[in-house]
Amino acid sequence: MWMNDRGGREGGFEGLQDVADGSRGTVRARHAAGRFLMGRLIRIAVTLVAGGLCVAVRAAPLLECELVQGTSQVRVTVRPTSDPYGVSRVPIGRFSFQAAWVEDGTQPPYLKLSTYVGQDLVHQALHAVPAVPEAGAPVGGADWQRVLASGTGQDLRYRCAFQAAPASAPRTTGGPVRLAFVGDMQLDDGPGRVIRRGIDPFAPFKDWLAQADVRIGNLECVVATSGVKDPFKPFTFRAHPRVLPVLRKHMDVVALANNHSGDFGPVAFSEMLDRLQAEDIGFFGGGKNLAQAHQALIIERQGLRIALLGYNEFMPRRFEAAVDRPGIAWSDDEQVRLDIQRARQQADLVIPMMHWGQEHEPLASERQRALARLMIDAGATAVVGGHPHVTQDVEVYRGRPIVYSLGNFLFDGFRDEDNNTAWMLDLTVDGEGVKQMQVVSGHIDRDGVPHPQPQVAAPCWKRGEAQVSACLPQASRAKP
Ligand SMILES: [Zn+2]
Repeated sequence: MWMNDRGGREGGFEGLQDVADGSRGTVRARHAAGRFLMGRLIRIAVTLVAGGLCVAVRAAPLLECELVQGTSQVRVTVRPTSDPYGVSRVPIGRFSFQAAWVEDGTQPPYLKLSTYVGQDLVHQALHAVPAVPEAGAPVGGADWQRVLASGTGQDLRYRCAFQAAPASAPRTTGGPVRLAFVGDMQLDDGPGRVIRRGIDPFAPFKDWLAQADVRIGNLECVVATSGVKDPFKPFTFRAHPRVLPVLRKHMDVVALANNHSGDFGPVAFSEMLDRLQAEDIGFFGGGKNLAQAHQALIIERQGLRIALLGYNEFMPRRFEAAVDRPGIAWSDDEQVRLDIQRARQQADLVIPMMHWGQEHEPLASERQRALARLMIDAGATAVVGGHPHVTQDVEVYRGRPIVYSLGNFLFDGFRDEDNNTAWMLDLTVDGEGVKQMQVVSGHIDRDGVPHPQPQVAAPCWKRGEAQVSACLPQASRAKP
């Protein structure tokens, strides 16, 4: 997955993508990112995050190594680690390369650059890390280092250099922008039948959604006619494409990183991406390949650039995208951190939408809390989640709200009241982050259609408040 010569040419857009190697090192491989939401978007200006393509600033000091073997080229991004043995080797041809930036507190920081052929260590170089690494400074001299695999005539060449010192992205005065987030939209079954009868299941929530500048929801199904049902899942959801024009009326963007968008396999998933694009519905957390699945979707409104990222961490993991397979983004912590940091350099705000947590649990798990904090520490403006089929608690960490689960939105087949509670999160953001939030609670009927219940007090918060409170949402609230 590291080679740069495997990308397609379908969309003419080519980006550089950080891909986690499963530990602390990362690899930047070049992939074609494919076609993505071009053309007729009128109200949303969408830009792709092409990480590294035009970014001169980084969130943390980095070392970058370039590897060349034959016609293959790989870039490796190296971050400090206390565990050099946990750094994965990057395969390239017959070789593999391991670059560890060791800061374990027992000795001054150093770089250990190791080259292997098979399991054999054939070359190793150690270098001290300067106290203040100078941008562009080569490690071990400016020349390429060359390692031979004896008896084969093949060589690996590499050179490493420190990257520019970190710089913070400028604050903007853009916004405010009002975002509406909803939870699981399962457009097969009940809601699908409602649409087939010519009824719009979003209609009861229409006016609430219409107050927002951008409307975002989790698409908890695949929308396609192709594909093969996953034989190992008790519930699989595939909605008919007739649902898309209805979806488009109320949703600008959908999250795809969940445990059902892959129910009918990568062919159906890919068909859905094409249909969403044709319908001008933006998407994130999924793509034609791994690189696209991890790319932030950037929405620009009122001069404010908002990056959306999506991750699933509810099994099965086999729906995950690969370098040459369509699918979703999986939430490996280190990759999430990198994605957020990179998106932060291209956008004013970054909001990850998560698919996580224990089903039917009203409180977020320790894992959810830890990951939410990691994301905010990495630069996320807020964290919004779903999947448990119930709403969960809301908290504020470092002045940034975390809404762990919005619950179901369009979903039938549940009897319990907590499963039939739907939240719409109304988030007002500006250049400094979240200005205020208000949840609008709703009740889902037997057809899986949500009805707003503004008479129900629901979580609310304003910048500067220490705690989340409960408020009655105001339908007539003027646009900020
Ligand atoms: Zn789910």
